[in-house]
Amino acid sequence: MVWSAPGFREITIDSTAGGHDRAGLVGAVDRMPDFPGLTGDARAILAGTRLLVVGTGSVGGRIAEHAARCRVGEIGLVDPKTFSANFDTQVTRSRSDIGRPKAAQVGAWAKTISPSSIVRVFDGSVQALSWLDLDDYDIVVASTDNLLAEVYLGETCMALGLPLLYASVHGPTLCSQVRVFMNRNGDSPCPSCGYSRAEREQLSSGTRFSCDPAAGGEADLDGPPTVSVSPLCSLAADMAMLEVLRMRLRLGSAPCDCVRELNGYTGASVTTPLSRRAACGVDHTVLERVYLDRPLGECTLRDCAEAAGVTGDEGIARTSFAVDDSLFAPVLTCTACEASHEHNGFVDRRRGTLPRPCRACGHHGLAPHPFRSFDRLIPARAGGLLPHLDVPLRALGADGRGVVVRYGRKAVLLRWKSDRTRDTTS
Ligand SMILES: [Zn+2]
Ligand SMILES: [Zn+2]
Repeated sequence: MVWSAPGFREITIDSTAGGHDRAGLVGAVDRMPDFPGLTGDARAILAGTRLLVVGTGSVGGRIAEHAARCRVGEIGLVDPKTFSANFDTQVTRSRSDIGRPKAAQVGAWAKTISPSSIVRVFDGSVQALSWLDLDDYDIVVASTDNLLAEVYLGETCMALGLPLLYASVHGPTLCSQVRVFMNRNGDSPCPSCGYSRAEREQLSSGTRFSCDPAAGGEADLDGPPTVSVSPLCSLAADMAMLEVLRMRLRLGSAPCDCVRELNGYTGASVTTPLSRRAACGVDHTVLERVYLDRPLGECTLRDCAEAAGVTGDEGIARTSFAVDDSLFAPVLTCTACEASHEHNGFVDRRRGTLPRPCRACGHHGLAPHPFRSFDRLIPARAGGLLPHLDVPLRALGADGRGVVVRYGRKAVLLRWKSDRTRDTTS
């Protein structure tokens, strides 16, 4: 069986209940306003926008629907959960929605509303995707109630220089909130910068290591279910989508790191700047980008180091690499008899075992050695990648979707220049 990494699935119009609308009147009426100050074509800009919505529940489900009604060209939807019998706040439409995956169901609705949009869904947690999947989008809007997902998104969007909007509600105080993280540079704030001591303690007490048998549950550090009223959830979704429109269409003042709040008790709307907390434990490095004109899989690590500006054997020896979403396994271990097998290759970190035969016992199932593998940033020196510098990445088992080269304070993300290359100049 061929293993494929967890990833998005595209929703086709034929798979939706609105399949019959394909040749119908969907989108035939245009209500796009003439925005004062707009310098481009709003419809074209939105059609060229790629929006990732993480969490498609009470707030995110409505953001996805707004994105479809605004004819956003590509809409990605991520949610590991299924619809419950909550008709009070969720976008559930009928009894038959209960028990269905939220992302797929919301994706089908979005596709029905906007058949011209490319709608992709992933019915799992955002951490189960590759971090490079996020780089296919221009903006991430999240509404997850899950602290681990929030930290992960904060860290990943920061590294990718990807704007992140976090929409949430506080039901008892009738407060809707959108936190805007522009992730322009290392001085930008991240979600963790604003955590209270209680949240930080919750995070550290909830941290589980991958060798913990209980690790990997998607409900880890989930907040309590949304206690709110429907209009408040809708309001948070509206505020988030208005911010997306403002950002993409460049309306009003330049977007900044801030929290926007609207309080239902007072009717007051407040915008407060967000700033970086010096003691924040999250890495605030925004990766510099270099695009190569050939597939990374054909390149060697030496090519990558040189493209990132690191030259000479001494320089490369002090360099660390992160390749795709992989760990580097010098050795694989048989899952039956624990015999070791030399491997010297990359293995996707989301992959448990490789279906290779063990030479000692014949069992099919070899896994990266838990203590002898290198995760994420892999040093060239100290038993790392130095002996493999001149081997093409594909021959080392890597796909070559993205390579991070770190040398001193330099941190560069290398990608193959393709038509999906994100414009990071705005
Ligand atoms: Zn931070
Ligand atoms: Zn064996």
